[in-house]
Amino acid sequence: MNQEIEALIELQKLDISIDGLKNKAKEIPLCIEKTKTDFATKNTNLENLKQELSEVQLDKKQKELDLHTKEEERKKHQSELNKVKKNDQYFALQNEINQLGKDISVIEDGILNMMDAAENVNTKIKQEQEVLKQEEGKLGQEIDRLNGELAAINNSITAQEAQRREIAAKIPPDSLHLYERIRKSKKGLAVAEVKKNNSCGGCHMTLPPQVVNEVRKLERLVVCESCSRILFWKGE
Ligand SMILES: [Zn+2]
Repeated sequence: MNQEIEALIELQKLDISIDGLKNKAKEIPLCIEKTKTDFATKNTNLENLKQELSEVQLDKKQKELDLHTKEEERKKHQSELNKVKKNDQYFALQNEINQLGKDISVIEDGILNMMDAAENVNTKIKQEQEVLKQEEGKLGQEIDRLNGELAAINNSITAQEAQRREIAAKIPPDSLHLYERIRKSKKGLAVAEVKKNNSCGGCHMTLPPQVVNEVRKLERLVVCESCSRILFWKGE
């Protein structure tokens, strides 16, 4: 009986350990997903910068078109200057040409600003790409590490399950069946220690003295009357 109860305690230790390992194994794929999602968020910074650059370039192109239009207009007016006869027409044209010249210089300044802006964004893009490259390396390492951890956990589960089979084989089928049934209904703890104050280590109810005596005698498996767990006495 002593060996049987010891085997049941050992079985329970393994079952608790295997449950813990299985829970850990379940968490790892979630960790991997989260690591990937975090990386994808960092990637959006780069996408935003690329978007910004294409907007600046579009803006610059529009300004270059405006510049071309105004320059053509100015050329046209300049050639007209030679053909006008009247002074007021001449001055009107001259005014228009001056105004066009001012517009052109404003547009040219704008284009220069756009070029500066594009250069700035480009620099940021290069920096971000560098950061991402490093992050990608780290991501790969982290995923490798997590997969390694998962493989190690799975190995431990296999080893402990083999150990469990060995121990279970030593327990009489009836007792093993009782253990399995209680374990299922009690979410894990099927074997409970009788505490020093004669209470059940599973449900904490005080056990009648004759029950405690029976547990100590080790003649048969004794269960707690209130929670049905198999009781054992650890000894003084
Ligand atoms: Zn109990």
